[in-house]
Amino acid sequence: MIISTQKELKEILKTLKEDSIFIIGCGKCATKLHVGGETEVLEMKNRLAKAGKTIAGWTVLSSACNISSWEEVLSLNPGIGRSAALLIMSCGGGVSVISKLSEKQTYPALDTESLGGIGGEIQKEQCGMCGECTIWKYGGICPVARCPKGLLNGPCGGAVEGKCEVDERKCAWDEIYDRLKKLGKLSHLEFIHTPRNHAKKLGRKKN
Ligand code: SF4
Ligand code: SF4
Repeated sequence: MIISTQKELKEILKTLKEDSIFIIGCGKCATKLHVGGETEVLEMKNRLAKAGKTIAGWTVLSSACNISSWEEVLSLNPGIGRSAALLIMSCGGGVSVISKLSEKQTYPALDTESLGGIGGEIQKEQCGMCGECTIWKYGGICPVARCPKGLLNGPCGGAVEGKCEVDERKCAWDEIYDRLKKLGKLSHLEFIHTPRNHAKKLGRKKN
């Protein structure tokens, strides 16, 4: 699941100069996280109308990043054709896909933060999409995503009482240690991870 949060209205209005706006929500992650489903789209519609914008229409696509027919979206939503710009309430993936399909100016209403999930509560920063998954070595806790320095071979030594020196979250490497201990796999700490192939993160190189 892609974790996103809503931008503040004043930030959206700073970039949204056009008057006639069509709002597009997403029925997947953005709906589950309550940042871009029908309720939030309708709230946005009211807030933009109060700010003086004309709302040409709105819709919530089943998945903004997976659109099989843009022609069908256009025929079901004639307001898109009348609008001067689209405000997209989905992750950046959805905004990119729609920007490719539509000739209209698009604007993101959300900030895409990380790849995570929901396990009781929202869990952010679970994967940094590095393109070569070795999370098993770390007991299922990804240092690429969870350690601000992305350290693959042990802690930096800057943690104070278990708190990261960068932003006061729990040190990811403390968590990795605790988890490996619980699993009886502390021997994993002896692995030396070779430098990652950063080209894989960009999805450009397979080997
Ligand atoms: S090792 Fe790479 S692919 Fe695996 S969870 Fe971490 S960032 Fe994601
Ligand atoms: S304190 Fe821990 S989580 Fe923070 S940068 Fe250092 S190793 Fe990474």
